[in-house]
Amino acid sequence: MKENLLGKNPEELKAVAVECGLKPFVGRQLSEWLYQKRVSSFGQMTNISNSAKEILAEKYSIGAAAPSGRAVSADGTVKYLFPVECGGEKSAVEAVVIPEDDRRTLCVSSQAGCKMGCRFCMTGRQGWHGNLSPADVLGQFLGVDDPLTLTNAVFMGMGEPLDNYDTLSRVLEVLTADWGFGWSPKRITVSTIGVMPVLRRFLDEQRCHLAVSLHNPFPEERAQMMPVQKAFDEKDIISLIKQYDFTGQRRVSFEYTMFGGWNDSKRHADALIRLLRGLECRVNLIRFHKIPDFPYDSSSPEVMEAFKSRLNNNGITCTIRASRGEDILAACGMLAGKHDPQ
Ligand code: SF4
Repeated sequence: MKENLLGKNPEELKAVAVECGLKPFVGRQLSEWLYQKRVSSFGQMTNISNSAKEILAEKYSIGAAAPSGRAVSADGTVKYLFPVECGGEKSAVEAVVIPEDDRRTLCVSSQAGCKMGCRFCMTGRQGWHGNLSPADVLGQFLGVDDPLTLTNAVFMGMGEPLDNYDTLSRVLEVLTADWGFGWSPKRITVSTIGVMPVLRRFLDEQRCHLAVSLHNPFPEERAQMMPVQKAFDEKDIISLIKQYDFTGQRRVSFEYTMFGGWNDSKRHADALIRLLRGLECRVNLIRFHKIPDFPYDSSSPEVMEAFKSRLNNNGITCTIRASRGEDILAACGMLAGKHDPQ
């Protein structure tokens, strides 16, 4: 398989040009075509000579893989299936475009499957098939319909982004650099279950928003559903986050999926309030989407409302996140990459 140039920075593209026996400035031209004009073939690069394009095309490819599946929800959410190759094995990942009033948000996958094994998640159940490359992730940005109208991105699709940090940091660089897509970091949210050492690096190096999947304020209960808790305690994660400033541009939120009878009592709300006290943050309550062979169902709307009010009345901003794309298995925790959306 030819190496895809998508994801390389201008310095690396210059090195590619030189290695191909071309002038160094061809690297800058490649960067402009890839990230500003976002072309999908060497043939479209009108200011690069035909012979240079032939040399490049012998060794390299560009552009996104075409989606192998596409499903449209009644609420306008669109789910795409993208073919990827991880370690020589063919796999597939899903990306979801969520239209809102003035936004069009891409929910992007960072890994084929996931190692983290959260019991309530369809991705976790399928295991891990490999890390996506920067070209695989950027391909999701370019392979959806009307890619230039995307306004926001959330790394909340398949995989744990901080378990593939090299790819994540490169993709964030391309998205936010002046030579890249030129997005403000405020348009991007990275979600993690809390991979502690990498989280510290992320907080030091990146400027985009952070979302942490918490789901339970009691460590021993959280560990029943999320094996990562045994390696990285949520209390340590919150302590780490409290060392950083979230009163300015960068925001932190906590995802809290509500399971009826498991994490939705007053006891849980009060413990959550105590855990997050002193931190400028938001809690997003998420309705659980039932999956097979799992003992819990979602909390009722009334219980979710009461939980939300209890947090809001105690100084923690809390909202109930609208569920999108459930009818096409595109909602939180439902992405699996195996479902054929056609
Ligand atoms: Fe992985 Fe996220 Fe699913 Fe947990 S919830 S298994 S981290 S994709």
